[in-house]
Amino acid sequence: MNTDILVIGAGPVGIYTAKCLAQCGYEVRLLGKRPEMVKQICCTGLISTECAATYGFHGEYIQNHFSEATVYSPYGRKLLLKRDTPQAIMLDRGGFQAGLLKQAVNCGVQTNFGCQVNGLENTGNGICITTKGGQTFFAKAAVLAAGYNTELSRAAGLGEIKHFAFGLQGEVDTSIPTALSLFTGKAISQGYFGWLSPINDHAAKMGLLTRKNPNECWSILHNTIYKQGLIPDRNIKYACRPVPAGNLSASFGDRVLAVGDFAGQLKPTTGGGIYFGLLCADLAVACLDKKIKTNKLSKADMAEYEKSWKALIGSELYIGKLLSRIYAGLDDRLLEQIFKKCAANGMIEKMAAKSHLGFDWHGKAFAHLLKNPLDLIRS
Ligand SMILES: Cc1cc2nc3c(=O)[nH]c(=O)nc-3n(C[C@H](O)[C@H](O)[C@H](O)COP(=O)(O)OP(=O)(O)OC[C@H]3O[C@@H](n4cnc5c(N)ncnc54)[C@H](O)[C@@H]3O)c2cc1C
Repeated sequence: MNTDILVIGAGPVGIYTAKCLAQCGYEVRLLGKRPEMVKQICCTGLISTECAATYGFHGEYIQNHFSEATVYSPYGRKLLLKRDTPQAIMLDRGGFQAGLLKQAVNCGVQTNFGCQVNGLENTGNGICITTKGGQTFFAKAAVLAAGYNTELSRAAGLGEIKHFAFGLQGEVDTSIPTALSLFTGKAISQGYFGWLSPINDHAAKMGLLTRKNPNECWSILHNTIYKQGLIPDRNIKYACRPVPAGNLSASFGDRVLAVGDFAGQLKPTTGGGIYFGLLCADLAVACLDKKIKTNKLSKADMAEYEKSWKALIGSELYIGKLLSRIYAGLDDRLLEQIFKKCAANGMIEKMAAKSHLGFDWHGKAFAHLLKNPLDLIRS
């Protein structure tokens, strides 16, 4: 089967990339591993209002808006982060992804679901992709958007992202209306945090990200939230999947570009990858459009893509990883002390009110504080 561009992976970043390439006038085929779009996706779907505005996500897929969050210390102390206007929105992830797919198909994207890609070969004048089921596809170029996938990245000659965290999520009934809540402490998460993100007054998404011991961390998070009186003491079904904690050594190859989680384009502090993945998808589309028109699709030609996405989010990833490592190194008692100090002098509330501290650009905010230490002292 011949086409201009093959996009591998029908997650939000792959679907969006396919749609944009079709809008540029290319014949695009999207290959997805699952037989059909799933309704339940292991992802909370929290994005910033900046992301929603940039990509025009509004209306029917929005489950909730948040202008505040309560952060719990390891020993149960609470800090409230609050702004006057919504900072984040929560998507119905299944509905959102299905809606994106509908838009892509309307733009002319052809789809093959139930296709697990396991081989890629550069034939000199094109790329040949094979699936586990024995199908073969040919194209001028391919975009790899298959989530965290070391097998496929190795097969594409792009190396692999060695480190990952476990992301867990389930839907819970809530006993009382709750606010967006984050839970810290080594027992709940090694290196990250847990969360309860209300869908409405009766239900919420409960989740966590951790480097180790996912099942133990889940039980402790459940118990902690139950003790706060927020959820009933009932077993909750949850799904678990890996979240990349690092980047590919190269996100480009002969006739190939990698985007989204596949390339490790996500916030190292929170594991949020929708916004950064979409931003990088825009750059992949711009690069491919240019390279296909000039028939310059060698690895050296495609390197331009990595330069452009690193110029946009490279420092965020670098500083984010640093912050994540510092946080992971704090023991619970020290973290508790930090909470206590912040609660006593209202520092966090004052910092949260500052406009440069946002939902997405944590590296930028940290760099601002380093350049303007007086901001911290004045808080
Ligand atoms: C518990 C949890 C909560 C999260 N919460 C948030 C959040 O609130 N906000 C946020 O921004 N991010 C969140 N994330 C991260 C977010 O889900 C990802 O960053 C985002 O889905 C990345 O999109 P993607 O299209 O790159 O990859 P994915 O969504 O992983 O999609 C990849 C697709 O490729 C398919 N695929 C895989 N292998 C193959 C193959 N060999 N051949 C063909 N198809 C293949 C998969 O089936 C999948 O459909 C969360 C993640 C987890 C685990």
